[in-house]
Amino acid sequence: MKKDKDFIKEDFDHSLSGEEPNSAHEEAKAKWFQRLRKGITTSTSDKKETPEGLWSKCPECSYICTANELKVNRFVCPKCNYHHRIGSHEYYEILFDNNQYEELFGNIRSTDHLGFTDLKPYGKRLNEIHAKKPELHDSMKVAVGKVNGEMIVVACMDFEFIGGSLGSVMGEKYSRAVDYCIEHKLPYLVISKSGGARMMESAFSLMQLAKTSGKLSQLSDAKLPYISLLTDPTFGGISASFGMLGDLNIAEPGALIGFAGPRVIKEATKKDLPPGFQKSEFLLEHGFLDFIVDRNQLKDKIHQLIILFKH
Ligand SMILES: [Zn+2]
Repeated sequence: MKKDKDFIKEDFDHSLSGEEPNSAHEEAKAKWFQRLRKGITTSTSDKKETPEGLWSKCPECSYICTANELKVNRFVCPKCNYHHRIGSHEYYEILFDNNQYEELFGNIRSTDHLGFTDLKPYGKRLNEIHAKKPELHDSMKVAVGKVNGEMIVVACMDFEFIGGSLGSVMGEKYSRAVDYCIEHKLPYLVISKSGGARMMESAFSLMQLAKTSGKLSQLSDAKLPYISLLTDPTFGGISASFGMLGDLNIAEPGALIGFAGPRVIKEATKKDLPPGFQKSEFLLEHGFLDFIVDRNQLKDKIHQLIILFKH
């Protein structure tokens, strides 16, 4: 093997077999592959970062697939059926025909009524989120469009906006969506994904529980169906109000749904919790849910329900 201070030639055949080339015959043999330098020579500054979001790892089974493969499978793990958390944009794309819909009441914005400060002032927090995610106006979006040709109003939460928390804007959008349903005689689907009430709005947030629940009785009087789809996670004020008030309460597989979290319940009851506690399958078994729907069947199922309620 010929060695030089900064230039090393290495015969791949011999590297693989672990032998040193010694005979003239070996030397004469045509070298198809030659490594010119040993080791990784790219300097750190020249290394290319893998673009973020190109690959996705399943938190449940560690299966790795491309982000595109995951998107085609509606953000459901192809191996273990784990339902990844998605936002309103993705749900609308899954549900509405040709991804065509009209967003309603997008102009309503949260304000800091109380001058509330937790780790940072609420007003500053809102400005930061609006700057970072201009497409999210608040923790809920409302849209109207067609699901397999049937018109429906879909209100969907965005967990990325302060944990999908229920504040005065969500309450107002929710209520106006009910009015819109009554005016246009449309069914109402709400997709929940929330940590509960928005503490920065304090009592204003809690008032939304009564406001939204009251609105639902108007929808019921108008004999229009209300479907509540609970996704991972749905907690606090949502499960204590409109989340569980659907004509049908349905959920995605494996979604965590409850009022208080398991740690709090365990501390309060001083008892070990049963396996699968607060998972949608557990809730179904104990009569809290009507059925569990796989995201890949969601669109057809919603369409089927609209038709059923219509007749
Ligand atoms: Zn998986």
